[in-house]
Amino acid sequence: MLESAHSILKNIYGYDEFRGQQQDIINTLIDGNSALVLMPTGGGKSLCYQIPALARPGVGVVVSPLIALMQDQVDALQALGIEGAFINSTLSASEVARTEKALLDGSLDLLYVAPERLLMPRMLDLLRQASISLFAIDEAHCVSQWGHDFRKEYLGLSVLALEFPEVPRIALTATADQRSRAEIASQLGLQSAKKFVASFDRPNIRYHISEAVAGKNDLWRFIEEQHAQDSGIVYCLSRKKVESTAEWLSQQGRTALPYHAGLDSSVRARHQKRFLREEGVIIVATIAFGMGIDKPDVRFVAHLNLPKSMEAYYQETGRAGRDGLPANAWMSYGLQDVISLRNLMQSSDADDQHRNVEFQKLESMLGFAELTACRRHALLGYFSETAPATCGNCDNCISAPETWDATESARKALSCVYRTQQRYGVNYVIDVLLGKESERILQAGHQHVSTYGLGADLSATEWRSIFRQLIGLGLLRSEQESYGVLKLTEQARPVLRGEQSLHLRKASKPALRKSKKRAVALDMNSADKPLWEALRDCRSRLADEQSVPAYIVFSDATLLAILQQRPQSLTEFAAISGVGKAKLQRYADDFLDVIAGFEPNEVAAFE
Ligand code: ADP
Ligand code: ZN
Repeated sequence: MLESAHSILKNIYGYDEFRGQQQDIINTLIDGNSALVLMPTGGGKSLCYQIPALARPGVGVVVSPLIALMQDQVDALQALGIEGAFINSTLSASEVARTEKALLDGSLDLLYVAPERLLMPRMLDLLRQASISLFAIDEAHCVSQWGHDFRKEYLGLSVLALEFPEVPRIALTATADQRSRAEIASQLGLQSAKKFVASFDRPNIRYHISEAVAGKNDLWRFIEEQHAQDSGIVYCLSRKKVESTAEWLSQQGRTALPYHAGLDSSVRARHQKRFLREEGVIIVATIAFGMGIDKPDVRFVAHLNLPKSMEAYYQETGRAGRDGLPANAWMSYGLQDVISLRNLMQSSDADDQHRNVEFQKLESMLGFAELTACRRHALLGYFSETAPATCGNCDNCISAPETWDATESARKALSCVYRTQQRYGVNYVIDVLLGKESERILQAGHQHVSTYGLGADLSATEWRSIFRQLIGLGLLRSEQESYGVLKLTEQARPVLRGEQSLHLRKASKPALRKSKKRAVALDMNSADKPLWEALRDCRSRLADEQSVPAYIVFSDATLLAILQQRPQSLTEFAAISGVGKAKLQRYADDFLDVIAGFEPNEVAAFE
């Protein structure tokens, strides 16, 4: 006699209760009906097809694109005493033959196959001869042509409904994207199947998004303070950044492994394996890494760039905390991200309709990043789910971001772009606002425009934050084909004319690290200490990036001179004792940024 679902849950899995809609889903299949299951990562999808496969006579056939994980999945089943097997291209002919025999003699409970294998005439033929309890189509969003995981073989799966009309089918996905959901039902012939849509909230994930202040140091601070021993994923946009970040984290004493499409497949497989098997490994990856990563104890996912869409953000951050325990989704991004994403879209060669969709997605992502209200509410709202106005577990709920009336400053910024004929990039426009006397400015005669020096009340860092938000909000456009030249958009008009006010997020100050270790031995008044610490942090960051001792960047004497003289421009910086041309070129910008983050009155406030 076959066991009931509940006793399988208890006896095989050792769980007392079904979770959420599991029981309904399982009963639907046991009764011979099909189902479409939309459930977030960690929701417990596997049991939804494994239990009915065990409760019904015959073998459950699981279609999955994740060949690399099949061995692990089958090992997990076998550990539970379930007869699992897989057939894919990694097996030898004799192994395939053995599994095919097991399939036909009815000794298998579950069989994992990749879609391309399933659709081979030989395989379909075998399945017709076998007794099948159900078909489970995992990662069902791969059937969606709009999604980023599209696999054309998935389209062929419509054959299952025709060839095996009496076998129940269950399609499962963790994708929250509405368009994909609709496509899954129609492509897989599940229009009349029962649909189960769980909440997509991941309450254990804490969302945090901040402006990049100190480059890699921001990431390090986050990891060191909150995840000193944990494993996690760090996402970067480019392969180069993946490599350098992994190397840098390794220098900090962490096991950090790179993963991107440019690496040899054997290296990728090895790194993935170490990430899955060893404790405390950090994987630094492009988005090539992640789909179907089953690791339950990923404690953090960090983004060093903005993802292209909310769908991508949700999916990537969702790899954290699959086990339901607290996890962090942390992101840091800057002006350059906003510019390059905007450009990426403008230069996309996709057709108009597709481009429009991409544009809207990016628009939503930028808005989300700049959001001052609850992130979870907005994230779920994006996927048409209503959530409470506050969650208590995102950065904005934990400490409300400061905003300010930036109307005047925005007008100065926009007007400065206009006065310089919309022919320059961000850095130049900021220099004009700050009234710098660079050669370029003097040659162009921009010391005579009305906005020259008009922005001296703010620091370069604060101006960058304003420009980032203006570009993010679509008031300015940065043109790639002409070296990031800024142009005003229609939306800038009402602000320029003073018809519309604008509230922006306050620029983050460089995070200050309290010096617990040794007291500052140098003679300085206490008001200077925060800046001193920040300068030292900047120095050690640069030293680390280049793998040199800190004193090679600047000696303490030079650093002290920087502290006392507070240079505001390259010219002033060049005047510091110990700053030569090479160091000026290499380091000045970083230190000037640090200094610019410290207004004299704010420094005093630390006393
Ligand atoms: P998904 O595939 O939806 O991401 P999994 O099927 O991997 O999620 O399940 C996530 C975790 O929750 C697994 O460790 C699984 O064993 C566990 N789990 C699933 N259902 C239950 C349940 N009813 N009771 C307790 N734990 C469960
Ligand atoms: Zn919140």
